[in-house]
Amino acid sequence: MTARSVSRGSGFGRDAFRGVRGKHRGFRRSHIPHCASILLVLAGTSAAAEFPTSVQQGSLVRATVDPHAKVRYADRDLRIGPHGEVVFGIGRDEAGPAHVDVRSRDGTHRDVVIEVTPRDWPVERIEGVPPKTVEPPPDIAERIKREQARVVAARARDDARADFTQAFAWPVDGRISGRFGNQRIYVVDGKDVPKSPHSGMDIAVPQGTPVKAPAAGIVTFAEPDLYLTGGTILLDHGHGVSSNFLHLSRLDVKVGERIEQGQTIGAVGMTGRATGPHLHWGMNWFDVRVDPLLLLEPAR
Ligand SMILES: [Zn+2]
Repeated sequence: MTARSVSRGSGFGRDAFRGVRGKHRGFRRSHIPHCASILLVLAGTSAAAEFPTSVQQGSLVRATVDPHAKVRYADRDLRIGPHGEVVFGIGRDEAGPAHVDVRSRDGTHRDVVIEVTPRDWPVERIEGVPPKTVEPPPDIAERIKREQARVVAARARDDARADFTQAFAWPVDGRISGRFGNQRIYVVDGKDVPKSPHSGMDIAVPQGTPVKAPAAGIVTFAEPDLYLTGGTILLDHGHGVSSNFLHLSRLDVKVGERIEQGQTIGAVGMTGRATGPHLHWGMNWFDVRVDPLLLLEPAR
């Protein structure tokens, strides 16, 4: 058996059932992508906006606009930082192009069009899962639902801080053992049961390895023992951008604490339904999951 599963609807996807061992069947290495950015000068208006012309699926898009502009994307008015910082997420399955409406001070609208380039999502087939573990008993399902609701609430924050503008750093040093977006299929009684794609990236490191904040933020959630995700920390980077760190063996921070980049927030473990020690690092723009790897330097 390589992984187990209990329920649908975990906000963290199925990762709670994944560990380090034997779970990357079908894994294919792809180059670490990054996005090009150019300066778009919007002639004839007071608003100059800098957006990438093209991004990959699962990207967190950071851009700058005139601080007095109004920006709308995906039916949401984006918060604009004092220096014109804006951010939004492009989902894993977003086909694009993405349209961003930028309204300048004089009322003129500009439709900023961003091409979304598709990615190749490897499929992992996980065999040997006992069928009875695919759906949880009602009391466990109820607990998972309650815990999930608290996580969703924490991710709904729209704080004015623009910590997301920092260059993100690796929270631990190690091999990537699971990539964002990989599609998982459980083979149960000889049938393929498609499950949610992997919601973050896994880094294989020993139990107890200190986890360092990849960027500054405020702790919005810190629980040592969630059913699926075990020791769980959410760090809010502002404007709806948050990181989640799962399966931790130790939590060093409390809700409400201000954390600086590089500060130790906890330690790697295999709590919850993980089968081996690893750090799962997920990122969100509100409820849109994005790929942390796209924010990191392509150093390895
Ligand atoms: Zn994971």
